[in-house]
Amino acid sequence: MSEQQFDVVVVGAGPAGYPAAIRAAQLGLSVACVDDWQNADGSRQLGGTCLNVGCIPSKALLESSELYHRTETEFAAHGISVDGVSLDLDAMQKRKQGIVKQLTSGIEALLKSAGVTAIRGHGRLLGEHKVEVAGDNGSSHVLAAENVVLATGSTPIELPTAPFDGERIVDSAGALEFSEVPARLGVIGAGVIGLELGSVWGRLGAEVVLLEALDTFLPMVDEQVARDALKQFRRQGLDIRLGASVTGARASGDGVTVSYEAGGKKKRLQVDKLIVCVGRRPVTDGLLAPEAGVDLDDKGFITVDESCRTSVPKVWAVGDVVRGPMLAHKGTEEGVMVAELIAGHAAEVNYGAIPSVIYTAPEIAWVGQTEAEVKADGRDYKVGTFPFSANGRAKALQQAAGLVKLIAEREYDEILGLHIVGPMAGELIAEAVLAMEFSASAEDLQRTMHAHPTLTEALHEAALSADKRAIHALNR
Ligand code: FAD
Ligand code: AMP
Repeated sequence: MSEQQFDVVVVGAGPAGYPAAIRAAQLGLSVACVDDWQNADGSRQLGGTCLNVGCIPSKALLESSELYHRTETEFAAHGISVDGVSLDLDAMQKRKQGIVKQLTSGIEALLKSAGVTAIRGHGRLLGEHKVEVAGDNGSSHVLAAENVVLATGSTPIELPTAPFDGERIVDSAGALEFSEVPARLGVIGAGVIGLELGSVWGRLGAEVVLLEALDTFLPMVDEQVARDALKQFRRQGLDIRLGASVTGARASGDGVTVSYEAGGKKKRLQVDKLIVCVGRRPVTDGLLAPEAGVDLDDKGFITVDESCRTSVPKVWAVGDVVRGPMLAHKGTEEGVMVAELIAGHAAEVNYGAIPSVIYTAPEIAWVGQTEAEVKADGRDYKVGTFPFSANGRAKALQQAAGLVKLIAEREYDEILGLHIVGPMAGELIAEAVLAMEFSASAEDLQRTMHAHPTLTEALHEAALSADKRAIHALNR
């Protein structure tokens, strides 16, 4: 068996793996990146979950469906009457696919120009930093490396009581591919992905019911923000049933019967399609030979320290396959950190300032701690809030629902968390992330000039409000 030698072998070319490979190559190391992604149609593209069936295609459909929905619901308020708005779902899907194709091809070009050797195939870590690659045609060869970076990502969790059939009961990837808008759509799990996908099809005309086992809506989101968002989603027509635990689903010729329990009662729901979005699990299938010696935790994640070192020296793991939020940018920062550590530089990830975004309308975005977390830590804190209803730009956009909430330490004024539900929250949060990265105080935000009229003024006013000095709101 032939053996190629590299300084670094990265397994997985998703948003954690490919940046690790590119950064390591930028730092002068010889790098191979092995990836086995295969789409349902058999095509092979780099970029992992994020580019092929995750962040990018979901945001493409969210944007298209929102435009369609706003045409129907908002244009009249602007004094624009539109007759005969109709949906060409095929064109919408083709646009999405075009974006995915462009971006995945872009990753190939980026790896190439950085000098990374991209290898199609399934990687398996043997002992002594060797990676066996099984190719498409049954061929196999071994790569020898100084360092190995495992970035194999995650995959949807399947409920044994509601197994995927690829037709009527689908995972998040299947839900991005519908060729018709289902009249009645069921979604199991009102988490981030369930809400985004439910929003897409709801805006395009489906009657959407989300069944969520927990009594609390979005428990990881600040309670005040989650409450506001729930109210808005329900007003939009999303039927979100909390405390509804799915016990089974059966597909038949004309739909899916979903059984669930709520308030101690057994209930049923009849839908045309069912999306199961109950979370994701780490992918380590066929990844670790017994002699590899890499430890997993009790949930199957590869065990790592703060610097993404596994239990084996010079074997690292990053992204969804390790602890922490399953977010593309978290994996990217870990991948880049590991490349720099391998090259002998100092590097770290600030796990306290990871932004999270839910791309619903309104969007939800946050960074740092929720009020409940700050309270649980026993910190003395102050809160400033500002509603978008008092923001001129939000009014002009006809999107004046929601609020910004800033939480700061009372004595030292350090920003501990910032939470937004409202227009472009996912873009606005960047200011708060930067502020927290530099350990900014509420006063720093107060003293920063914000352009008028912009949505960013709501962040400014929330910071001012923490010290009861907001200009455009009552300081209670
Ligand atoms: P992945 O992207 O899963 O990539 C892993 C790659 O490794 C894959 O290509 C896989 O085929 C390959 N691989 C696995 N095992 C092997 C092996 N043994 N040999 C070779 N190759 C292997 N995150 C956000 O931050 N923002 C969003 O808006 C967002 N939206 C999402 C929407 C949806 C519908 C979904 C499903 C996810 C979304 N995510 C979002 C999450 C995001 O996609 C993941 O956090 C991210 O893709 C994880 O990156 P990764 O590189 O760790 O893994
Ligand atoms: P997330 O982890 O953000 O992807 O969200 C997944 C959601 O699915 C969580 O809120 C879970 O509580 C929910 N969930 C898991 N299993 C079930 C089930 N059997 N019935 C309803 N909801 C579920």
